[in-house]
Amino acid sequence: MAGEPPIPPFAAIIVAAGKGLRVGGATPKQFRTFRGKPVLRHSAESLLVAGAAPLVVVTSADGEDAAREALAGLSFTLARGGATRQESVLNGLEALASAAPAWVLIHDAARPDLPREVIARLLEALSHHPGAIPVLPVVDSLAVDDGAGAMAGKAAREALRRVQTPQAFRYAEILAAHRAWNGARDAGDDAQVLTVSGGSVALVEGDERLKKLTFAEDFVDADPALPAFRIGQGYDVHRLEEGEELWLCGVLVPHDKGLSGHSDADVALHAITDAVLGAIGAGDIGTHFPPSDPQWRGARSARFLEHAVSLAREAGYGIANLDLTLICEAPKIGPHRPAMRAEVARIMGLGENVVSIKATTTEKLGFTGRGEGIAAQAIVLLHKL
Ligand code: MG
Repeated sequence: MAGEPPIPPFAAIIVAAGKGLRVGGATPKQFRTFRGKPVLRHSAESLLVAGAAPLVVVTSADGEDAAREALAGLSFTLARGGATRQESVLNGLEALASAAPAWVLIHDAARPDLPREVIARLLEALSHHPGAIPVLPVVDSLAVDDGAGAMAGKAAREALRRVQTPQAFRYAEILAAHRAWNGARDAGDDAQVLTVSGGSVALVEGDERLKKLTFAEDFVDADPALPAFRIGQGYDVHRLEEGEELWLCGVLVPHDKGLSGHSDADVALHAITDAVLGAIGAGDIGTHFPPSDPQWRGARSARFLEHAVSLAREAGYGIANLDLTLICEAPKIGPHRPAMRAEVARIMGLGENVVSIKATTTEKLGFTGRGEGIAAQAIVLLHKL
């Protein structure tokens, strides 16, 4: 680009073999959408625009299709992930053997915002060090835990640095260091692998934009087109039968009959789940947990609701409040209401003050009045995170 100093030739490896479980949901975080594109594509495009060639993407066997889809149209090759991050990096380095680049950048897919200036600083440092890593100062004060949750003392933060990726290396030296690494030990990062083999690593200025995506909140898309609030309602009915347990709001309620259905038949949690799914336009409980699927037989309905709440978070929404009405002649809900409120709040990760649980009868009219079944209706309000 005009006005910017040229970047010398380099190869790059993106490690995208992790499972990214802390983020939640079924899709590993490197393939999740962030600002309109898969996380992995952001990193790949930043490296390619800066001139990376070749670009090797290391992914697990079951991530290959997702990687190809995420990177459609870009110039890259795939290498297979190993059992540890170290093994994955070594596989990526070996995949570059025929290209034998002078310099290589090793990057985590989960840091999608990669400024060109950081790449330039790293490569500049490689002219006088075999390795270079981006770091940031520690701004918070530090405390030492005595192991029992009390403060044992203070730690000086002045000499400490937070380490980011990409990490830059002279290719021949990092390849040799990784080959010599004892696979039984877990290295914190590639810089550590190089220093153990005797190579010196330069510290260059990192960038807050290189923040690692770790939690579901990190994926919140600040799309201004999303409405600030969304509302959803859910309604469900289950039949009361003898010989069944009665689960309501995740609480086992003593009663002479219980609700029948494929899961634990918790009519209240089903109505709430549908309300959450409805608010984000994600179908209904049957779409996500088909009754025809034997794995949901006898399942705890809390799982359904937890899943719906995590989908809402992925869509960029938190729950503002919930109002639930149970409709039945018996049992009496009042004595169980505090436990139900606490359990629903726990499942949804909310404070009890935003969870309302009400009950009504239908004056002995209709199926609920005759005690043939219990109905539940729920309304939730979602707010943009
Ligand atoms: Mg149901």
